[in-house]
Amino acid sequence: MTASDDLVERNAQHVRTAADRGLPAQPSLSVAIVTCMDCRIDLFQTLGLRAGEAHVIRNAGGAVTDDVIRSLAISQRKLGTREVMLMHHTRCGLSTFTEGEFKDELERETGLRPAWSVETFADAEQDVRQSMQRVRQSPFLGLTTSVRGFVKDIDTGELHEVD
Ligand code: ZN
Repeated sequence: MTASDDLVERNAQHVRTAADRGLPAQPSLSVAIVTCMDCRIDLFQTLGLRAGEAHVIRNAGGAVTDDVIRSLAISQRKLGTREVMLMHHTRCGLSTFTEGEFKDELERETGLRPAWSVETFADAEQDVRQSMQRVRQSPFLGLTTSVRGFVKDIDTGELHEVD
């Protein structure tokens, strides 16, 4: 039995109790949240978020990549979001190795060096600042009314806002 078999079984339980039927596709809080894929972050618990309220875009590190800009542009232009919240966290895996190390590892094992940026960082706050700049400077995100950045303390759950 694979993990996905188990999850498909859990879905059967979800269907019996699902409360998210009939929600509109437009997030009711008009906000999109970009955060890390880290399995310790339950974003719905962290922010008291409910289904139907926000777009959630996740990747390794919560980096604002071109693909995140793509999702945010669609979120704003097709589904009406206006605010962007960025959330990194303490003890992130992306702070435990460097861009060069990871590219070297891939190149050694595959013969190919990826063209994409790994988006590692040493300082979560500094990386949030850079991410906020990327959102503010993107020509495709002109509908943004507010960009705020946070670092979540993975141990206490507390959010610290980054200026
Ligand atoms: Zn992380």
